[in-house]
Amino acid sequence: MSKQLIVIGGGAAGFFCAINAARMNPSLKVTIIEKSSKLLSKVKVSGGGRCNVTHACFDIAEMSKRYPRGQHFVKKAFHQFFTTDIIKWFEERGVKLKTEEDGRMFPITDSSQTIIDCLMRETNKYQVEILMKSEVRSLKYENEKFQIETSDFRCQASDFVCIASGGYPKSSMFDWLKELGHSIEEPVPSLFTFNLPQHPIAKLMGVSVENSKIKIPNFRLEEQGPLLITHWGMSGPAVLRLSAWGAKQLAISNWQFVIIINWLTDFNEQSLREKFNELRNTNASQKIINKNPFGLPSRLWEFLAEQSGIKSEWRWADLPSVEQNKFIKNLCNYECDVKGKTTFKEEFVTAGGIKLSEVDPNTMMSKKVPNLFFAGEVLDVDGITGGFNFQYAWTSGWVAAKAIADSISSNVKGET
Ligand SMILES: Cc1cc2nc3c(=O)[nH]c(=O)nc-3n(C[C@H](O)[C@H](O)[C@H](O)COP(=O)(O)OP(=O)(O)OC[C@H]3O[C@@H](n4cnc5c(N)ncnc54)[C@H](O)[C@@H]3O)c2cc1C
Repeated sequence: MSKQLIVIGGGAAGFFCAINAARMNPSLKVTIIEKSSKLLSKVKVSGGGRCNVTHACFDIAEMSKRYPRGQHFVKKAFHQFFTTDIIKWFEERGVKLKTEEDGRMFPITDSSQTIIDCLMRETNKYQVEILMKSEVRSLKYENEKFQIETSDFRCQASDFVCIASGGYPKSSMFDWLKELGHSIEEPVPSLFTFNLPQHPIAKLMGVSVENSKIKIPNFRLEEQGPLLITHWGMSGPAVLRLSAWGAKQLAISNWQFVIIINWLTDFNEQSLREKFNELRNTNASQKIINKNPFGLPSRLWEFLAEQSGIKSEWRWADLPSVEQNKFIKNLCNYECDVKGKTTFKEEFVTAGGIKLSEVDPNTMMSKKVPNLFFAGEVLDVDGITGGFNFQYAWTSGWVAAKAIADSISSNVKGET
């Protein structure tokens, strides 16, 4: 008698588990149950409609450092299925990926539909059944079988279950999983931008600085990289990374905290003071506002000078020490009060989920319930932006598929 696998959730992790399990073990009957009327909906909108499939990082230790939660867990799983494997997996199915300057990898078509079409083709090829508009409400393990109840009152029985239901924003949404004996890390948002309501800097919206250093001193967090000023506050890779690393502490602060920005990462206040003394001589007759010797965007330079009380007609030789000190402080330690967050529309994730200590990263199997597997964002794993979240979704889906296929004797060996 053939065995059955039910995958709960029709996202990246669920599809990858379903396809690979069916492919590795053709005797397995595989069904995906999806609560909504859409499949792979996040894949569709991901990366601005281009799908940032993975990141061009080929060192497992290096790659794992991009996961604020689950670093050690993903490292183990990556030993089974890594970036090189997903690139090859798609290429073998006619989907070529390209790498952008910052390491993000996209299909060469620049369309997420290419990824969706490929995954849909594979589900058809391996006869994966898909049930939509069907929400799993409860899951019980009795007499070595799972009994699954769905919102459309269908009752399914299965030998294996893989939960790939994605991240839930509220702890209560995990109740049906807690009933299985699993515990959860409180969910909190990750990958958001910082709100600075009514802050004068917002008038510089659209200005970006290629390399800045942002600190959150209360939580000893610091990130360096591009920063973008928006009409509501601060965004850009450095801010998003800070939001990911600090997701839990920032949630506890109710997203009210102080940030300190160094716009000139090559300097601190002391070394900048020395540079200013030099500039007072070399640029003595030039207007401070006009002469920006650091390559900062001119609107930002003018704004910081203005905030420091520097008049537009002042020349370097006239710069009084009080205003000079303020200017140096604003350039190296510009302080702002963050009040709230805005979800980053391009790529947000939920930190938190099923506790990792209860799942084996070598198989993705539950340590509480036999033949119960997890994949994707439902677990307490999340990465920073750049393709890390999808890589983990593919990896965890594949590892679960392999473990399920391997546990059935008629496994087809030798395939990747
Ligand atoms: C706008 C946006 C853009 C993104 N862009 C990128 C990117 O370019 N690169 C990157 O690496 N990451 C990106 N991410 C993050 C990435 O999309 C997620 O990490 C990834 O999709 C998680 O996959 P998953 O399969 O675990 O969960 P999901 O994709 O969330 O899929 C879970 C599925 O399970 C279904 N479900 C939930 N509960 C039940 C239930 N009880 N019964 C049945 N079905 C259920 C849901 O409806 C959903 O379809 C982006 C995220 C967003 C929101």
